[in-house]
Formats: sequence, C-alpha cells, structure tokens
Amino acid sequence: MRAVCWNGTHDVRIERVPDPEILNPRDAIVRVTLTAICGSDLHLYDGYIPTMKAGDILGHEFMGEIVEIGAGVQNLRKGDRVVVPFNIACGRCYFCTGKMWSCCDNSNPNAWMAETAYGHSPAGLFGYSHMLGGYAGGQAEYVRVPFADTGPLKIHNGMRDEEVLFLSDIFPTGYQAAENCGIREGDTIAVWGCGPVGQFAIRSALMLGAERVFAIDHFPQRLDLARQGHPGQFHEDDRIETINFDEDEVYDHLMSATGGRGPDACIDAVGLESHGTTVDALFDRIKVASLLATDRIHVLRQAARTVRKNGTISIPGVYGGFADKFPIGAIFGKGITIRCGQTHVHNYMQPLLERIEKEEIHPSFIISHRYNLDEAPDAYKNFRYHQNECRKVVLCP
Ligand SMILES: [Zn+2]
Ligand SMILES: [Zn+2]
Repeated sequence: MRAVCWNGTHDVRIERVPDPEILNPRDAIVRVTLTAICGSDLHLYDGYIPTMKAGDILGHEFMGEIVEIGAGVQNLRKGDRVVVPFNIACGRCYFCTGKMWSCCDNSNPNAWMAETAYGHSPAGLFGYSHMLGGYAGGQAEYVRVPFADTGPLKIHNGMRDEEVLFLSDIFPTGYQAAENCGIREGDTIAVWGCGPVGQFAIRSALMLGAERVFAIDHFPQRLDLARQGHPGQFHEDDRIETINFDEDEVYDHLMSATGGRGPDACIDAVGLESHGTTVDALFDRIKVASLLATDRIHVLRQAARTVRKNGTISIPGVYGGFADKFPIGAIFGKGITIRCGQTHVHNYMQPLLERIEKEEIHPSFIISHRYNLDEAPDAYKNFRYHQNECRKVVLCP
C-alpha cells in the first residue's frame, strides 16, 4: 500500500509499504477514506519530537471502512464506516473504565520511555513517535486499529467524510478545552490561538453558554474565520470579538472590554496543540532552536495575568517539558484553576456527532486545502509555511 512516511526533518515521502495485518484478536484493519494533517504533525515534520524513526507512517486523524476484524471484535462488521479516535485505549484498565481514555495504562508498549520523562505514560497514539507506542498512522491506504471494539465510532447517517472526520481529534479537543472552562451562562472566554483547535474551542464555548468570546491571534485570515461564528452562515457573529496581538495590547484590551474584571476563563490553544508529548531534552532543543517555547510560556503568563480572580485557564496544548518563569505567583494570588491534558476523545465522539447531525456546527468549515495522498509532501510544505491561508489540510488516499 501507499503511505506517508517520515524520513527526517522536513522529509516526508510517499512510500510503498506492506499492508497492515491483524496482530491481536481485538484489532481491525481500516481502509482509509479521508485523513488530515494536524498542527501537531508539523512538530514531527520539524524534527522536534524524539523517538521517530525513518519510515514511520504518520497521521492520527483518519476515518474509513472496516475491511478486516480480529476474532475478538464483536461490535464491528466488514463494511462499517468508522471515525477513529487519535488516542488508543484498551477500554478495560483503571483509567479507561473511569473514562480517562487518554491515560490508558495498556496501549503504550513503549511506556518505559514516557515513564522516564513523566513518571507515568499516557495512552499510545497513532503515528506519533515510538515513545507513544510506535503505531503506524492513518495517512495511508490502510491502518491497523488496536482495541477496535473500544475506540471507533460508527457513522450510519450517510454524512460526508469531511463533516465527521474531525471527531477523531480537533473538534473533541476544542470542545474539551471549552468544557474545562466550567462555563456558566453569560461568561466571557478568551481564546489564544485561532488554529483548528482554537476555532473549535471558540464555537464550543458558545455552544456551552458563553456570552462573549475573544479570539486572539495575528494571522488575519484566521481571525476572519473566527469572527464568522457559525460557519454555515458566513456572517459575522457579534458574540465573537477578535484581537490581533500585533496591533493591540491583549491585557489592556480585555480589561477595558470586561470593566477591569477580566475574562472568566482563558484557553491557551497555542503551541503543540493537544498531543506534543516530549521530554526535557526536547524542551531544551526547542528553546535553543526557536522562539516556540518562549511564545508558549508567554501565552500562559498572559492568560494568568488576564483571567479574572478565581477564574480558569484551560490548556488544550501540552507543555512538553519544564517551563521557565511559570507564573505561580499570579495563579496562587488570584486563585486560578488550571485544567489541561490530552483529550479523552472517546467521551465526546457520540455527543458531538449528534451536534453535527443537528447542524449546530459544520466541522468542514475548517478545511482550506484538499490533496490526494500522493501529494502529501507538498501538503506538509504548504501547511508548514503558509499558516495564514492554509489552516487545515485533508488527504484523500
Ligand atoms: Zn491532531
Ligand atoms: Zn485502558
């Protein structure tokens, strides 16, 4: 089959590789019908994530048709159409039975690598380094899905792939970020970063009852998209206000907009999105190699300074290593709650599918570019270097 393979920094190739096979009774093989490149894939592309090996198949946002199932899978049939969550979860461990799917204890065969850095290992992920399981990803014609009786969501409604694909990651990730804000009717929420996760967080905050949402970025097209509110309508939503941080001082703007009180919650959707799991060595490399680390900590500091007393900071982006000048003084002095972590995608797929069915949201609004799988090298390049215009790329095998 054809697959998108990582071969080093800025070196992604289409390669012929062996078809995946059923290895365990609870596996299924999915023929991929649509897959996406995630912002976090760019950190693999840029060479920031350790424990990648040449030839690794990329991709953790994908959907398709079941073509083969292991003997232990009772709830799927050949021909079923499924969306697959990006984190792999066994469904039976302490964390899975407690619905903390992204913390599954059984899905990372290389847990020791993550334990070295964090003390414990999060769940394994598709196509995201050997430290997180070394699983082949979904930017390919076929993919093996472990614990297939637990993760995949069946799609019966005939809805287009483009409308349901993002249930695999970015819609649940944005939604969980908003849910973690503990929004009450009338709240004001500020969202840093209008990339795909930020866009879904903005819309989710409104769904959950926020009265005003401030969207903060410096890419004009991303701010324009944020202002469109409900994407089916293509008119500006007056509940959403934008702040271009190149032109405006964010703290001052938010204080004058809220009578000096500050937003009830702040969402930090900048940086490695939801699943850049890294080690301290990586943090040092990032610090040295770019301004990323500074920027990301800058957002967290700005959020801690801006959020109202007793407010919440929700972080859908993972901070991989050790942060310098962590604003513990503001967090303690103002009684701030911080909520974060990888998304428990499994909890959100069905309820968010229902919101899509009710046309509360059309997730395909986020797609800006469509490519054939064979064009993946160009797709990565475009996504990496044209962030204003290129906000979300899908690949069709
Ligand atoms: Zn993703
Ligand atoms: Zn588990």
